[in-house]
Formats: sequence, C-alpha cells, structure tokens
Amino acid sequence: MKYDVIVIGSGFGSLTAAALLANRGLQVCVLEQAKYPGGCSSSFKRKGYWFETGATTLVGLDEHMPLRYLLDKTGIEVPLRKLEVPMQVYLPDGQVLTRHNNLEEWIEEAERVFGEYQQRPFWEHCYRISQEVWRTSLGQLSFPFSNIKDMLHAARSARPHQLRLITAAFRTMEDVLKAYGLLENKLFVDFVNEQLLITAQNHLGEVNELFGATALCYTLYGNYYVDGGLINLVRPLELYLLEKGSIIRYRQAVQEVVPLKEGYEVRTMGDIFRSRFVISGIPLNDTLGLFQDERLRKRLSRYTLPSEMLNGAFTMGLVIRSQEPRQVLHQQVHVPEGLPYTGSKSFFVSFSHPEDTQRAPAGETVVAISTHVPDPVQTYISDKKPLEEAILQVLEQRGILRRQDIVYRDSATPGAWIFWTQRAFGMVGGYPQYSHVKPWQMKDARLDHKGAYICGDTVYPGQGIVGTCLSGIIAAHKLQQDHL
Ligand SMILES: Cc1cc2nc3c(=O)[nH]c(=O)nc-3n(C[C@H](O)[C@H](O)[C@H](O)COP(=O)(O)OP(=O)(O)OC[C@H]3O[C@@H](n4cnc5c(N)ncnc54)[C@H](O)[C@@H]3O)c2cc1C
Repeated sequence: MKYDVIVIGSGFGSLTAAALLANRGLQVCVLEQAKYPGGCSSSFKRKGYWFETGATTLVGLDEHMPLRYLLDKTGIEVPLRKLEVPMQVYLPDGQVLTRHNNLEEWIEEAERVFGEYQQRPFWEHCYRISQEVWRTSLGQLSFPFSNIKDMLHAARSARPHQLRLITAAFRTMEDVLKAYGLLENKLFVDFVNEQLLITAQNHLGEVNELFGATALCYTLYGNYYVDGGLINLVRPLELYLLEKGSIIRYRQAVQEVVPLKEGYEVRTMGDIFRSRFVISGIPLNDTLGLFQDERLRKRLSRYTLPSEMLNGAFTMGLVIRSQEPRQVLHQQVHVPEGLPYTGSKSFFVSFSHPEDTQRAPAGETVVAISTHVPDPVQTYISDKKPLEEAILQVLEQRGILRRQDIVYRDSATPGAWIFWTQRAFGMVGGYPQYSHVKPWQMKDARLDHKGAYICGDTVYPGQGIVGTCLSGIIAAHKLQQDHL
C-alpha cells in the first residue's frame, strides 16, 4: 500500500504533523513501536490506575500558541481543565512560593519572597519577550531557514518587533539577571536555575534570553489539566486521523528508511511500507540510524548531541490515599544537598486532579514524580531504593505527603525510557538549550531536501509538548510549501 506520508512514531510532534497533513487531504500512516500513542506525553494503566508516561504540565492553548493553532485548524476537541494556580515551588530556605497565573499577582509574590529589588522590571521584561516569542513563532513557520524559499517567505511575513528578538538570542539569562542586578540574590538565582531546568533543560549560563524568558513565563499562560491523563490529549488526534482515512499502526518499530526514485520505502521488523513523503518524529540521534546514505548521516550528525550534553529522567509513580483536595497540582521541590546518584537539586511532583475519577477512584490520588538524570549513559542508577527514599523523605519533611498514605509505588530509570520509547540513551525532555547553539543553528524540519522531514523535541524549537507541537506544525508547513 502506498501512502502519501509515513510518520515515524506517535509522539506529540508526529501526531501534530500527521493531523495537519490529514486535514489537508493527505493519507497518512503513523508507525509506532509501542502499543499505545503519545510517547513521552501519554498515560498508561497499571493496577487499575492511570499514570502519566512523562509530561504532566500543559500549556500552548492561548491565542497565538501552537496547540490552539492545531485544535482550531482541525476542529479537534480535548477535555481540558484550566488550572487556577499553575505551580508551587518549595525553595531551599523553607519558603513556599506560588507561581500565580496573573502577572501582577506573580510580581507581588516574587517581591514577597525574593525582595522588592528589580523583580518588577525583570518580570515585565521577560513577559514582554515571551509574548513576542509566541506571536512570532506561528508567524514565522519557515524558521530556521534551509532554502531560499524559506527566506523569501520569512521576509514577506517579517514584522519590526520580530527583528528585536534577534539580539535576545545572543544574550544568556545570566546576562539578563546581571543587567537587572539580580545575580547576587542567591535564592533567586537558585529558583531561576531550577525553573529553567524543567522548561529549557539547562541553567542560566546556557539558556539564551529568547528561550529563557519564555520558559520562565511558562506559568503566566493558561496551564491545563486533561482528565484521565494525557492519553486523552493524544487519543482525539488518533480519532481525527482515523476519521480522515489515515491510520496508526502499533508495534511497528521502523528499522530503515530507503529512498526510492520516487518516494520512500519504510521497513519495520515484519513489514515494508511505501510513501511519497516521510516525517521522522523520533529524536535526531535515532533518526540518523534509519538512513544508510553516508552524506545525509554526516550532515545530520553535525546537529546531534552526545549523552554528556543530555538528560534522562528518574520517575516515580505513587498512589496515595487523599487527605483534603489539593489546591495546586504541580510542585517543584528544591533539594539543595542534591539527590543520590544524580546530584539533582530539585524534583517535580504532580498530583491527579481531585475531581478526576478516571485516573484513580474518589479518595485516592495518582502522583507523578520526576527528576533529571544528567548524562544518562554515565549516570548509572544501580539501586533505585536510595533515590526513592531520599525523595520520599523530602516529601514528608515538607509536608507534601505522608508515607503511611502510599498504597502503590513504582519507579523507573533512563533504562526504562529506552525500553518504552527507544529514545537514544534514554534521553528525554528534548535537547537542552546551549548558548553556542543559536535558534537558527538548530536542525530545521528538512532532512534530505527531497521528501523526508523531521519533528520532535530534538529539533527546532525543542523542549516540551508545546515545542514539539510547533515542530510538527513546521514540518507539515514545510512539506506543503515544498511539494503541494
Ligand atoms: C519525565 C518527563 C516529564 C516531562 N514533563 C513535561 C511537562 O510537564 N510538560 C511538557 O510540556 N513536557 C514535558 N516533558 C517533555 C515532553 O513530554 C516531550 O518533550 C515530548 O512529549 C516529546 O515528544 P516527541 O514527539 O518529540 O517524542 P516522543 O514523545 O518520544 O515520541 C516518539 C514516539 O516514537 C516512538 N518510536 C521511537 N522509535 C521508533 C521507531 N523506530 N519506530 C516507530 N516508533 C518509534 C516512541 O515509542 C514514541 O511513542 C517531560 C518529559 C519527561 C520524560
């Protein structure tokens, strides 16, 4: 059977591209090695409870943002609950800080916790940049440029405010804090570093102002919860594909992509599929291995990052007997002394919504805990117990949960991510921001400048569901711009 497009993997980047191309009337076949869709933004059932595979927070549904664009374009509906307060942070000095959704409330809170000095101008500056970044991201779908058409297209849609953003790519967040005289405020620096780690995957010396300001303002945009877990974010995309005559085939691990005179042959363990176009929705490191063409591999390998520049994750799923309903579902907890094996200075905790009885029955709550594992190849977690115990001890000390309320507990190391998603080294969260890689130096969506494309969290613009969604929009856009 010959399809118009074969999409490799059913992560959020892949499903975005697949849905937009199906919307355009193309017949799409998504090949997924696992038995359910969504990759790192999905849910799985164990012991009758629904746990998140990876991601727990969701943004991108406001005006000018990628998920809004996808849902508006396709008419797909997702069961969303807007969170009144997106997050709380348990700081190393014992204070608990609330990341309010409203800018004014947030500045007041930041001034209360970090002191009044320069908080207002700093946050107003970051918020302004983040708004410009979001407005520009969907207005410049040809970025990063990889041919003349891209440049012409960008020039036609360029606006003066977009040019201002270029200079922000040359400054790091460390430069910005310095300019506002905030580098001496250690509590604030620690806070910024750990917040950047969950949104840009790196610290302030490496994250540029463009991505950093946007990442720090993550909680100032609509934050959402999906009842039943993030599987209910991806299932509607799957249903949409089926309605449009497209398909997802599970347990189909793609081994090789062979360019033909016209189109591609995509080989899995037991099958051969043919299509006019291919979109890889798996990390660059893995995509490289699918192509035999030495020149292409050499070209792509310039963009790939090694394990020592990446992060894996240690994740823990708990079910607890609920006490009173939680006001704030997401918490970042600082651990200044560092966690065993990983040295991580924080971990992230997300609770299922108290009214969401799809994930756990009334009276019980599902809890997702995750922390970064730097350089997943070298950071071998031989025994999960000390790490689990260290996290539980901090959770108890800070009054976040009680050990006697735990009715189920399980945890996973980067090795489990290799097994679940086949991602190289068990690397997750996407390529971290590095100051020597400017946004225009990130890999764009064109793989071979013929009919093969790429999306996902290792290519522009990188991290998170919202980033991969934008990468899927760009891949679909460039494919259409080149061929349709
Ligand atoms: C612990 C953790 C917490 C996170 N928290 C958040 C958060 O709160 N908010 C947020 O926005 N983001 C979060 N992220 C990041 C976010 O989940 C990911 O960046 C995003 O989901 C990645 O999507 P993707 O499409 O790039 O790839 P993936 O989700 O990795 O999807 C790739 C898919 O391809 C499949 N596949 C791989 N190889 C093959 C092959 N050869 N053939 C066929 N199929 C294949 C995999 O099984 C997978 O389903 C988190 C990630 C982790 C791990």
